[in-house]
Amino acid sequence: AATSTLFTLENTFARDLEGMFVPFVGEHAPDPRVLVVNTDLAEELGLDPEALHTAEAAQILSGSTPPPGATTIAMAYSGHQFGGYQPLLGDGRALLLGELVDAEGARRDLHLKGSGRTRFARGGDGRAAIGPMLREYLISEAMHALGIPTTRALAVTATGQTIMRDAPEPGAVLARVASSHIRVGSFEFALRQGDPLQPLADYAIARHHPDLVGADDRYLRFFEAVVDKQAALVAQWMAVGFIHGVLNTDNTTISGETIDYGPCAFMDAYDPATVFSSIDVQGRYAYTNQPPVIGWNLARFAESLIPLVAAQISADPDEPDTDAAIAALTGVLGTFLDRHDAHLARHFAAKIGLAEPDSALIDDLQTVMREHRPDFTGTFRALAEELRGNSRPLDDLIPRDAIAPWLDRWHAALPEAEEATAAAMDRVNPIYIPRNHLVDIALRAATEGDLEKFEMLLGVITRPFDADPALGAYAQPAPDDFGEGFQTFCGT
Ligand code: AMP
Ligand code: MG
Ligand code: MG
Repeated sequence: AATSTLFTLENTFARDLEGMFVPFVGEHAPDPRVLVVNTDLAEELGLDPEALHTAEAAQILSGSTPPPGATTIAMAYSGHQFGGYQPLLGDGRALLLGELVDAEGARRDLHLKGSGRTRFARGGDGRAAIGPMLREYLISEAMHALGIPTTRALAVTATGQTIMRDAPEPGAVLARVASSHIRVGSFEFALRQGDPLQPLADYAIARHHPDLVGADDRYLRFFEAVVDKQAALVAQWMAVGFIHGVLNTDNTTISGETIDYGPCAFMDAYDPATVFSSIDVQGRYAYTNQPPVIGWNLARFAESLIPLVAAQISADPDEPDTDAAIAALTGVLGTFLDRHDAHLARHFAAKIGLAEPDSALIDDLQTVMREHRPDFTGTFRALAEELRGNSRPLDDLIPRDAIAPWLDRWHAALPEAEEATAAAMDRVNPIYIPRNHLVDIALRAATEGDLEKFEMLLGVITRPFDADPALGAYAQPAPDDFGEGFQTFCGT
């Protein structure tokens, strides 16, 4: 392991997975300065948060100077982007600094985004602007606070370089932590290369499912474990109105963590067809399409595993049984939507204070919401207020006539203890999410050099369930002139 005063880094990915990466050292940053450090995460990782503010840290966290002795790499992967196969993607503007191992033995990647052009950069400049890197920081930390598996943000470092987007923008690098950066696209790449496929699968199993190491049905069981994690993950997105925006197979992890916060956003007014990404003109990655799209990505993962499962499933070690492998993988894949639906039904039951799913009640609430397009996040907090005898919040969102029949049925289905039920609802329904208009305002100011609004918003959305009367504005829907036509962008 490479040890500096800041980090002790291993790199088992580089050690074990020949052919899955290229060596890469970040490009020079003219004047690196650390802008934000995630103190809680640093402490969780056993790092000294103060040390991450130093000039030495700025050199490393901008990618400008590699950590002494570390093997730093750009990972190779393929991917289906909007359904079209791209044989060679890879870290175009990112690098793996190495792996941190915490006191409990958990291994986590420390990864930089925006650190310069790699061999996989294609037409891109290898750089990132401050606004989008702070955006990933905010939204990934909000997701973590909501209890949703995600990559985490450790720091954002300004490079001192001006980069060209629609206008000149200050450059920055995000330091990101993940339980790994292995994606469905990593397996698609390994399948195409051939030789790295089995080493990659065994590496991923050892890292994420050590209980399966050595099992003679481990590849099929690994697939099932990933199917289950992704089913749980996408159900959590759906329950909070999160729209990822670019669910290509290279942005679907094996760990079940949310990754790649580009054009993502939380839904404001409820509409299942909501799309924010400027390039998603067909609505492939709309809110309501996320579960089937993750299922589609898992089908690409299953295809990548066919040779491995075929060798394991066959009675004769010299004759892989491809038909049996396809049948077995298809069988597991076929459970994905049911697993997702079961998770989602439990989330929505909890959101309306029920101990058990009641699909008719949930479907009918969604029908009313589709018609009246209330603020998605606000509606569930308003229902808890309704139980407390405060009808104002709900009246601000949905006409009483339209929801009264549903409210009668709901009251009949609820347990007696109304205050306890309302409190339980408030523990699963966030009041503060990174609202698009607030994120926009905070990032504009940050790009101009003023981080105060960013810090304030970060503080609010990392305590998403605790209502504070002083923070009323953070719980309000976007002003009418903001919502329609709000768009997000990739690769900025
Ligand atoms: P994404 O849509 O964010 O998953 O990115 C898809 C691919 O484009 C990945 O291989 C990225 O590394 C690459 N990419 C995005 N932006 C840039 C950039 N500015 N420079 C180089 N590569 C980029
Ligand atoms: Mg990506
Ligand atoms: Mg991206």
